Amino acid sequence: MGEFDVIERYFKRPARKAALGVGDDCALIMPTAGMQLAISSDMLVEGRHFLSTVNPSHLGHKALAVNLSDLAASGAEPLAFTLALALPRVDEAWLAGFSEGLFRLADAHNCELIGGDTTQGPLNICITVLGEVPPGDALLRHNAQVGDDIYISGTVGDARLALEVFRGTQSLDAKAFEQVRARMEQPTPRVQLGLELRAIANAAIDVSDGLLGDLGHILKRSNVGAEINTDWLQTAGSFSGSLNEQTHAGISPWLAALPFNKRLEFAMSGGDDYELCFTAPVNQRELVHAAAWESDTPVTRIGRITETSGLVVLDPQGQPITRRFASFDHFA
Ligand code: ADP
Ligand code: MG
Repeated sequence: MGEFDVIERYFKRPARKAALGVGDDCALIMPTAGMQLAISSDMLVEGRHFLSTVNPSHLGHKALAVNLSDLAASGAEPLAFTLALALPRVDEAWLAGFSEGLFRLADAHNCELIGGDTTQGPLNICITVLGEVPPGDALLRHNAQVGDDIYISGTVGDARLALEVFRGTQSLDAKAFEQVRARMEQPTPRVQLGLELRAIANAAIDVSDGLLGDLGHILKRSNVGAEINTDWLQTAGSFSGSLNEQTHAGISPWLAALPFNKRLEFAMSGGDDYELCFTAPVNQRELVHAAAWESDTPVTRIGRITETSGLVVLDPQGQPITRRFASFDHFA
């Protein structure tokens, strides 16, 4: 099976929204009149971003999910994507699984594959996603205001817990492992929440390298500081995806079962969460709650933006925690 057969068989589908999809020199799309295009790329490299043993369908999901997560953090609506793929060999079972997971998530977000490139080489997946957003409505990193509340969506730290089970430093029973592993391998891009937050949030980012590190990008760009409390690390959030104000608290039952220090480390700097971290004025709390409700996405308030630069994490007694939290950096 050659390169063109692979494309034809696994990646070419009839064009829907696109004026011209897979098969020509360029794809052609017609963005909605007056909208800005939001564009982002993310690459997944074997051994770096995923284990060679990962289920190909999960990998297809994740490759697109991490890109859709960037659109979510910008408050952009998914439109289309391209896929650049380096494959060591043509493995039909792998391609069938990969494309199935990829298209399942693509279809759920009405995001169309319009082109790409396929080549032989070490397994490497690069997706560029295109979305659209009304001019001036995109969520940005640089606009956090002193006094803003800071929130996260869903739960953080689960992907890190799964990774530590793979590494053998943590153990979980089979059922719990299956759940945290799904959080690592099949993250949920918070696209709908991002759309709902457009007129509400002042700043937003998606958490890929660890909560504190990614929040740090907002702080730096906005020239502000933050205080993060840890009361939300005391109880587990509901994990069903349905919103329950009483119980959601930013960490899963599996994280809540760990000793406080591990909970703290995994939630603050775990990485691979693909949750949204955003800030909003205090007088928007009800609207934030409504956005969470509308998008069926739990949201937890975890701190506030301060004038003093720097990031302070407060223990349950309100005292600053002095330990350092490393955020993920490929070249550090
Ligand atoms: P070119 O030689 O013009 O770069 P290619 O021969 O690489 O074109 O690709 C042929 C067509 O298939 C193009 O329309 C390209 O966008 C598309 N394509 C290639 N690889 C993929 C892929 N992995 N997924 C979707 N479309 C692809
Ligand atoms: Mg090409």
